[in-house]
Amino acid sequence: AKKRGKSCYQFFTTDINTAATEQLALENLLREALARKEFQLYYQPIIDLESGAIVSVEALIRWLDPQLGLISPDTFIPLAEETGLILPLGEWVLLTACTQASIWNQCNPYPIRIAINLSAHQLEQADFSERVSKILKKTALLPHHLELELTESMLINRMESSLKTLNTLKKMGCRLSLDDFGTGYSSLAYLKRFPIDTVKIDRSFVQDISIDPDDAAITTAVTTMAHSLKRKVIAEGVETREHVDFLNKINVDEAQGYFISHPLPASDLSQLLKERRYL
Ligand code: C2E
Ligand code: CA
Ligand code: CA
Ligand code: CA
Repeated sequence: AKKRGKSCYQFFTTDINTAATEQLALENLLREALARKEFQLYYQPIIDLESGAIVSVEALIRWLDPQLGLISPDTFIPLAEETGLILPLGEWVLLTACTQASIWNQCNPYPIRIAINLSAHQLEQADFSERVSKILKKTALLPHHLELELTESMLINRMESSLKTLNTLKKMGCRLSLDDFGTGYSSLAYLKRFPIDTVKIDRSFVQDISIDPDDAAITTAVTTMAHSLKRKVIAEGVETREHVDFLNKINVDEAQGYFISHPLPASDLSQLLKERRYL
């Protein structure tokens, strides 16, 4: 048994070392990617369900590695968060997306909002609201055209400092939305405590609204409650005509998903905005 124990131990140290080496290698790759500008933003339109018009666009980051190809954010965002690289990366996202949105709004008679995903680390920066303010000035984007997406898990820790930052952003005129609603602690109490404008119902609920009465009931109840609290509702993961019809019926305000459009490179979205091709 002792012998076996020893070999197990060796096995594990090797394993941990390999994992650590891999982590370090990935971290270096990420650092270099940032320096080499291998990140790209894709943009997914969000439509107003009543008019069918594109009213907002969510910026979604992609990593285009010359060897590995297109890498999904679910793979590298957690790593960027662990290593602190999320701060320069997130700043790059904010600047790039606001620059693009400002261009769209200058050549487009119908202005759109730009929705940007934030990481907890960004919100925890003492000067975060000042950073946002500087970017808005630099890009000449109107504050109410910037929508910052937060998740519930970002709000449970550091309540006081986050609340202060969010209140400042709100006073500046920025909009705040609660992303992935329904997957976390899902307390509507967050709406009371934080200056949230919009709830984004997670796609796991939207997916089955036409076949699962529970998901339909939850989506309807969340929408009714959010509306009575004077908040807007966006449905994510809208993939079929049936989804659109149901969401319309229960008065969800806006919709985002593959049925409307996949996330697109900026030039393709420019085309969509020009065509004003409504749903
Ligand atoms: P998210 O914020 O919930 O973004 C929506 C995700 O759902 C995107 O995945 C989008 O491509 C995908 N999606 C959109 N419509 C549909 C649909 O109809 N069906 C299905 N099945 N999926 C749909 P993506 O682009 O891979 O992003 C994954 C996550 O990575 C995002 O989830 C967000 O949490 C994070 N992320 C993306 N960009 C950034 C960023 O710039 N900063 C930070 N901190 N996180 C980001
Ligand atoms: Ca989001
Ligand atoms: Ca989401
Ligand atoms: Ca989601």
